[in-house]
Amino acid sequence: MDIRIKNDSSQVSVSNGILLGIEDEGERRTYHWKTNYPISTYLIAIYSSSYHHFSDEYISLDKQDTMAIDYYVLENDVEDAKIDFAEHPDILRFFAETFGEYPFIEEKYGVAEFLWQLGAMEHQTITGVASNIIGGKNFFLDIYIHELAHHWWGNAIGPKSWNDIWLNEGFSTYSEALYFEFRSGKSALRSTMLDKNQGRFSVALGKPGSFLFSGTVYNKGAWVLHMLRWELGDSTFFNILREYYEKFKYSNASTEDFKNVCESISGVNLTRFFDQWLNGTGKIELEYTSNSKRIENEFETIISLEQKQNGYEEYFFHLEITFKYDNGELEKFRFNIDSKNVELSIRSNKKPVKIILDPNDWLLMTSNELIEN
Ligand SMILES: [Zn+2]
Repeated sequence: MDIRIKNDSSQVSVSNGILLGIEDEGERRTYHWKTNYPISTYLIAIYSSSYHHFSDEYISLDKQDTMAIDYYVLENDVEDAKIDFAEHPDILRFFAETFGEYPFIEEKYGVAEFLWQLGAMEHQTITGVASNIIGGKNFFLDIYIHELAHHWWGNAIGPKSWNDIWLNEGFSTYSEALYFEFRSGKSALRSTMLDKNQGRFSVALGKPGSFLFSGTVYNKGAWVLHMLRWELGDSTFFNILREYYEKFKYSNASTEDFKNVCESISGVNLTRFFDQWLNGTGKIELEYTSNSKRIENEFETIISLEQKQNGYEEYFFHLEITFKYDNGELEKFRFNIDSKNVELSIRSNKKPVKIILDPNDWLLMTSNELIEN
């Protein structure tokens, strides 16, 4: 695509891809931008203002290319933007190492400030960010991470239909959690995900209808990836992301395409997993009771679980349960939950003083213990 932007010669005009040239003609100036990569129409953008330009750089994984990261901001925000934008090379590197090389490495990554006040937009190679998220305090880092992640999820791989929009938004939202995990460890992963377990998720993720940009699409979408990781383990999960990106970059993908990659890499039939999370609404809502009694030299604890949610009849998942003993020691157990009512029997040497369901927050779930009188 070629883009030519002509206006007052005092303005700086920015768009997708690389700048081929600037031509002056009397009082008017024309900027000629071009991208050689496939691009979805909704990712085309033109920006024109009295921009101040500064830049950073990213070195490709094979160390053969240096790519510019170009920033265009209004004069008043330059100092704040230099603080807020500083982490982009690190985020680029982390995503390239985790998912595969940045998809537009022959061109650029860019960020341009715009006057819309509602967040940001992942225009290909030139993300637009609202003035009010440039504050010089790193307060909106999650948004910068999210828009950059879209260059893999949404831009390089476009959705086949709008029902597949979670492949853009859920993936980019989960990428925020992955970057925070890389930067600050497992507790950052957990706290980021817990923060995204809010609301009722009352639309079906695989058929959001007019709720294309709802919390369900972003946050439940991210949770589905988090739970897929829990079901399959880290190495299989990250192999899936890399294979999915490699196979579908510069084209379009559907939920079915993603599911096929998951199944071929893991060797696991995931029909039930995708059905419950894409077609159901809400989350797992558990009620449980627990009772421990001594049997000879051991304790037997019976935990009775009941799924109470209305949005899906019977979820299938792996549940970790941790026992805490009076000396502070912890013991972990893992179960395959495959029906609405389950009774688990756990033998332990000591009596648990505390029973914790899903102690590491791998499940989009609420649980409530019923105390029997
Ligand atoms: Zn997004």
